[in-house]
Amino acid sequence: MTVDIVTIFSAMMEQPLATGILGRAIERGTLDVRVRDLRDFTTDRHRVVDDVPFGGGPGMVLKAEPLFRALDAIEAERGQPLTVVLTSPQGRLFTQNEAVRLSRVPHLVLLCGRYEGVDERVRQRATEEISIGDYVLSGGELPALVILDAVGRLVPGVVGDAQSVVDDSFSRGLLDFPHYTRPAEVVVTRRDLGEPGEPQEPQEPQEIDEPGKSMATATLRVPDVLMSGNHAEIRHWRKREAVARRFPVRGGLATSHETRFA
Ligand code: SAH
Repeated sequence: MTVDIVTIFSAMMEQPLATGILGRAIERGTLDVRVRDLRDFTTDRHRVVDDVPFGGGPGMVLKAEPLFRALDAIEAERGQPLTVVLTSPQGRLFTQNEAVRLSRVPHLVLLCGRYEGVDERVRQRATEEISIGDYVLSGGELPALVILDAVGRLVPGVVGDAQSVVDDSFSRGLLDFPHYTRPAEVVVTRRDLGEPGEPQEPQEPQEIDEPGKSMATATLRVPDVLMSGNHAEIRHWRKREAVARRFPVRGGLATSHETRFA
């Protein structure tokens, strides 16, 4: 799969694309990602990419022609068909299903807007318009990285253990089951016990009896079943936890998944 990101802030892409799973996939060539500086597709001496809006008003608008030229160059290099995603708060909401769909396209292009956005005519060349959430960011770079990260890890060979992608939240209409690692017991002070998430099993608080250092603590244990070595029971427990996790924490999730999995 090839991915081209068109931006006026290519430096913003460097670290995220060099890090972790995505970084390794790009290094190995499993993902062929190129960041294109929009200024390289200008023709004037000052390499201007933006201009004032017709009709007046505040802010600047990214010019259409450099974006069109960038798309022409990408198409010449990568071939057809290009899937051209315009990042925009007005676009269709990005979900795991969208990520799965995009992970199957041969040539993905992500256009990053800035300022007030891009010249409306650019939408003619976009095959889709995607929003990563109902809020307004100052540029499309973070959305492009979000989309690439979610899409990239679904491309075969990017994540080492394919099962881990299948187990992830949303993949089967469920959230992921809870994960624990060593040590089996973690002692925390009571004030470390936050509100979010499921309440822990009741644990007996202990007073540390040190002069001036009295602090209530609690011991957080790993569920016994995970240490039982009984794989059938572990599978059963994980399934039950994943199902139980669906709705209480995530009001918003219910609408997209409840209908399909009720
Ligand atoms: N005036 C525009 C917002 C422009 S924000 C409007 O109100 O619709 C500048 C750029 O940031 C956009 O062109 C887009 O590329 C990006 N952007 C901002 N919020 C985004 C979001 N929620 N999802 C995807 N891209 C977003």
